[in-house]
Amino acid sequence: MIHVLKHVESITQHRDRSLLELGVASALFELVKATEVNLYKVLNEGDTPLLEQVTHVGTDGLRFNSEFDEEHEPTPVTERPEMEACVNQVQIILRHDEANGLYVHCFPISLERGVLGVLEVICTRALVDDDLGTAEGFLGLYRNYLNLLDYSERDTLTGLRNRKTFDENIGKILGNIARLGSDGSGQRRRPRDGYQHWLAVVDVDHFKRINDQFGHLYGDEVLLLLARIMRQSFRQQDKLFRFGGEEFVIVLRAASEKEVRSALERFRRAIEAYDFPQIGQVTASIGFTMIKADDTIPEIVGRADEALYVAKESGRNQLANYEQLLAEGRVSVREQPGGDIEFF
Ligand code: GH3
Ligand code: MG
Ligand code: MG
Repeated sequence: MIHVLKHVESITQHRDRSLLELGVASALFELVKATEVNLYKVLNEGDTPLLEQVTHVGTDGLRFNSEFDEEHEPTPVTERPEMEACVNQVQIILRHDEANGLYVHCFPISLERGVLGVLEVICTRALVDDDLGTAEGFLGLYRNYLNLLDYSERDTLTGLRNRKTFDENIGKILGNIARLGSDGSGQRRRPRDGYQHWLAVVDVDHFKRINDQFGHLYGDEVLLLLARIMRQSFRQQDKLFRFGGEEFVIVLRAASEKEVRSALERFRRAIEAYDFPQIGQVTASIGFTMIKADDTIPEIVGRADEALYVAKESGRNQLANYEQLLAEGRVSVREQPGGDIEFF
C-alpha cells in the first residue's frame, strides 16, 4: 500500500504531461510486474485513427517523447487489431500472443473529448483481481489528472488551448526547431525533412457588429461554432488556440507555403459557407508566417499580425502571408521588438 502511495505521490507532482505519463507507465510496470508498458496517443485524422507511441517502459529502460518531439511516425490503428477494438469499443481488450507467451492488455483512455489514448500493458500472464484493479486504478488517476490539466490548459468557452498554453507550447516548438533545425549543426536528421512550422492568426471580421446587433450571447455562440469548424478543418497534430476575444492562433506543420495556404483557405471557406443560426454569414481574416529557428514569440506573432492587418485592409475574408507580402514590398522588414511590443 505504501508502495502504491509513493507512486501516486510521485505521479501527481508533475504538471508536465510527458512526465506524468512516464510516471503512470513506470508505476504500472513495477506494480503489476509487467514486461513492457506503452502509452499511445490516438490521433483522429481522416478515416482511420492513428496511433502514436509517446511512452515506453520496459526491461530495456524507458523512453518518452513530448508532444512536440516528432520522432515517431504515427501508424494506422488498423495495423493493431487489438488496439482498434479497444478504441472503437472503448473497453479493455486482452490478446494472448502465443508465439511469445505474452498477454497484451489494451486499456482505453477516454476523456470527455473521446478516446485520446491507449495504455498497453504486456505481461507473461493475464492480469486478474488485484493486478487488474491496480491497472484500472492508475488509469483512473491518470484520466482524472488529464481532465484537470485540460481544465487549466483549455479555454472554457471553446475547449481550444488557451493563451497560457500557447506560450508553453510555442516555447517547446522553438526549442525543437533549434535542436533539430536545418542549420546543419545537429547530427540528427528530421524524419520528415522539409517540413516547417507555420503560425496563423485568425480574427473574426466585424465581430463588434455581431455583438451589437444580436447580443453578446450570440457572439459567444459564433465563437463556439467557429472553434468547431476549426477542429474539423485541421489535423489533430495542428495546435489550435483561442488567443482571447475573437482571435485564434493555429500552429501547423507543412512542407510548403502552398500546403499551409490550402489548409487555411479550406478553413476560411468553411467559415464563409457556414450558416450561423440567426446571424447568417460570418467571415474571418487570416495572417500567417513561417516559424524560423532563431525566432522569438513576439517576432512570430508580430509578423502574422502584420499580415492579418493587410488582409483586413484589403477587404477582409482573406489570407495574407507575411513572407509573400515582404517579397512584394507590401510590408517592410520588422525591427527586432524592443521596448514596446505592440502585439497582443
Ligand atoms: P475587424 O476585426 O473586422 O476589424 O472588426 P471587429 O469588430 O471584429 O474588430 P475588433 O477586434 O476591434 O472587435 C472585436 C470585438 O469582439 C470587441 C468585443 O466587443 C468582442 N469580443 C471580444 N471578446 C469577446 C467574447 O468573448 N465574446 C463576445 N461575444 N464578444 C467578444
Ligand atoms: Mg480582434
Ligand atoms: Mg475582429
